[in-house]
Amino acid sequence: MHLSDHDLKQLDEEVVRSLSADKLINLSVKLLADLKESRDRLNQDPDNSSRPPSSRLPWEGGTSEEQSESQDQESEPEEIRKANDEEAEESGDLEQASEEDGLAPEKSALEEKKKGKPGKREGAPGYGRTLELPVTGERIHRPSECVICGESFSEDALFRAYTARYEVEIEKPCSGLAGIAVTQTKHVYGECLCRCGHWTREQPGRSAAEAGWTVELSEWHVAGPMLTALITSLCLRMRLSRARIQEFLHDWLGLYLSVATINQCIHEAGRAVEPVVENEILEAVRQAELVYADETGWKEHGLALWLWVFSCATATLFIVGRRTRKLVQHVLGDVFDGWLMSDGFWAYRDYDWRLRCLAHLIRKARGLEQSLDPQAHQFGTRALRVLETLIEAVYQARAGPPKVALSKQHAIRLGKFWAFCERHWDVEHKKTRELAREFLNDWDAIWAVLDYPWLPLTNNEAERALRHWVISRRISFGTRTAQGSRAFALLASVIETCRKRNVSPWPYIAEVISQRRKGHCAPALPHPAV
Ligand SMILES: [Zn+2]
Repeated sequence: MHLSDHDLKQLDEEVVRSLSADKLINLSVKLLADLKESRDRLNQDPDNSSRPPSSRLPWEGGTSEEQSESQDQESEPEEIRKANDEEAEESGDLEQASEEDGLAPEKSALEEKKKGKPGKREGAPGYGRTLELPVTGERIHRPSECVICGESFSEDALFRAYTARYEVEIEKPCSGLAGIAVTQTKHVYGECLCRCGHWTREQPGRSAAEAGWTVELSEWHVAGPMLTALITSLCLRMRLSRARIQEFLHDWLGLYLSVATINQCIHEAGRAVEPVVENEILEAVRQAELVYADETGWKEHGLALWLWVFSCATATLFIVGRRTRKLVQHVLGDVFDGWLMSDGFWAYRDYDWRLRCLAHLIRKARGLEQSLDPQAHQFGTRALRVLETLIEAVYQARAGPPKVALSKQHAIRLGKFWAFCERHWDVEHKKTRELAREFLNDWDAIWAVLDYPWLPLTNNEAERALRHWVISRRISFGTRTAQGSRAFALLASVIETCRKRNVSPWPYIAEVISQRRKGHCAPALPHPAV
């Protein structure tokens, strides 16, 4: 929007008639753009609004599909079961203060809130900074030109302040200097009087509404971009609960921020980086030559969801959602033609160039080998031997390319093993039957590495990418709201992608917040540091 309510109030027929031809054109262009934007907004409904792909949450709709898809040959990763057991003992919460902390004065309010829906109630007062900090600087924001006629304001144009905001910020760490400096800047916004008689106001930046977000992206927020990035770091990298972040800021920086403000900072940072994830990280994954995919259990306020990871050479994408084909398609699209390393989840089978983690299969085969059931023991022993022989062959092929492709060299062994698996398709022992079927169902993906021995043998890359967040989940019980899950996954994607590129995520995230609060586009992701 070019013209605010403040501008329109001053504008009437008399003003329009007083303008010269070129100033009228200037004004008309702005009016036309505003009119179109207003009309579009008026005509918006869920079927035609310009919701970005990301705003259609992966878990929206499709419950029947999900039920059938949960019948998957992969058993629940061990980590999840362990996590569920441990969760009961752990304290702290990604989304809310833990009860043990007597620090928060609004504890009783929090307890009251716990009974209801998570998040701030509509109309409830917001919390801000309550500690008295000295004002370390002042910035005057004055408009540069008249919004009506476009004339630039000279230095001596009549100026009056009409509002102010306070921003608490930390100085960006710079090389050669240690420590964190906290500043509080008073930002004064004013209006200038034009010769045409119009008062034009300069205003704090604010991003237009975006689908699926209730948190504001705005310069009105008390925490500056770098402080918001620090809070994000304490939450996602240091895995501190909201209450612990509050304690840290209070004890070490002399800052008092409410738990609600801290939560708002994290959600706002997530919203700020969404275009980066949608436009750059998602694209990098779709165009990659090799993607490692994996998923692990995730809880959102008692709802059992999955944390997905899609990792390639230059980027890592996280999504919290259901375990569905729709989600896989949302990420990889229909055009993905790279190699896909994954587990046996059937939705991956839509893709042609697939690899399976052989370490997983070895673990399963070893389990059977150690079984007391004779049939299971026999199947496990044979499967283990075939896997170990062929993996050894792959290692040798990497050292020096074989004259004949490994799949041809080992054709007889593979043929016999196929027949052996077929004979176990319907055996009584459940795990034996399941592993035999897994080999047969995913035969090409399991042995693709024989023809392309330089490709990876395991999905360790994806498992490593998930590990940090699995520990977060154990500490925090997962997330509490859909917005919280979304912010978490978006921030995790940017943080891991920056780390993969060997650059610090925090100055970048601060810059993204700063630009997006002004309503500008997010700056591009940093290139890999050499
Ligand atoms: Zn003017």
